[in-house]
Amino acid sequence: MKNYLAVLICMIFLLGSLSGCIGNDESMESSTDESDDSSPTDSGSNTDSGSNNTTGTTDTTNSTDSPPVEDDSPYDVICPDGTNETIQWGNVTCATPVAFKAADVSNETLNLTLEWYNIASAEWGNFGPVEIYVIGNDVDAAKDLENVFCERHKALDENWNEEWDCANENYEIFTRYTEDGGAAISTFKRTYIEYDFMMMIMSAKYPGPEEDDYKPVTLHEYFHIYQHSHINDECTGDSRDSCERDAKMGGEGKPWFAEGGAEFMAQSLYSEQDGVGENYLREVMQRKLEMSQDGYNAQDVPLDQLGYDSQVNVYDVGSWFVAYLIHHEGEDAFVNGFYGDLDELGFDAAFEKNFNATKSEYLAEFETFYSQPAEDVMALFPEASSTAE
Ligand SMILES: [Zn+2]
Repeated sequence: MKNYLAVLICMIFLLGSLSGCIGNDESMESSTDESDDSSPTDSGSNTDSGSNNTTGTTDTTNSTDSPPVEDDSPYDVICPDGTNETIQWGNVTCATPVAFKAADVSNETLNLTLEWYNIASAEWGNFGPVEIYVIGNDVDAAKDLENVFCERHKALDENWNEEWDCANENYEIFTRYTEDGGAAISTFKRTYIEYDFMMMIMSAKYPGPEEDDYKPVTLHEYFHIYQHSHINDECTGDSRDSCERDAKMGGEGKPWFAEGGAEFMAQSLYSEQDGVGENYLREVMQRKLEMSQDGYNAQDVPLDQLGYDSQVNVYDVGSWFVAYLIHHEGEDAFVNGFYGDLDELGFDAAFEKNFNATKSEYLAEFETFYSQPAEDVMALFPEASSTAE
């Protein structure tokens, strides 16, 4: 893994100078996740603050003095075991995420988020740097947290532009989550900033922390961190520019592969946790099938061209595509094979190399598979009782 990454990083410099990094406005590369309803309540006051899972990553207080030379890089962290490490994009790291919560969010919610974050990072590898922001229902508390975010990055990054990169009228970083709910990952690996990081936003509804769905959604978001950690391209921040990062995620505005992968991997990992019913995954996939199969088969937009706002739920069909892919190629080919090759080879070549067919061939096979009667599609997930040998 380490060797591979060293090679990879060299590749990036090469590619970077050739193609620039065809950038794009990623500021909202978020993925709002599905949901449901609910909401605790309580009113916020102030901003706030760290987690028990504090971190390696430098915090705002010590980046102000300017000691000798280069040794106050925000990427330098002290591991939980006391050793030092420099976080590198795409390398597994010892660094724990830096976590913040709005004032109206409880410590329990923050801990719950970290607990499921840790389950995901233990399974797929711990990547970073990551900042977690947990938003509640209170707008003022969310605003205060936007200020914390702003001050933190002004201190960490001399290229951070307060006017553009901090919250403003047109860029509601956290406040919109008090209303809209959901969860998202944003990738701050961009040509115009110095300090690269990923931001995980969790909120109080759709789903709320008291719902079981909050757990697989946390895993889902972490899988996006895994995906983005395997892509080194930087976007320009200008939405008119295309960005190779989007292409490697499956296409700009085309969520099928990234969302399908995050959703299926999250549900699959969640189904293995203690206390989760033995038919959980089957039931989830059945629901996704029921919600999407007829609608999908009745229209003619191919899966890889569906958008977030398509009539058909691209998360559901995408999850089935990834389930189908993993059923035939194995989880290792998807998680380690494909994502291991993605940055160097690009989407199509990494796909073909690891899945033994081109993307279009696979999509065509999937169309046939998905147009079968529901019970035949469901055969991918036999009932737990019937699997006993
Ligand atoms: Zn997502």
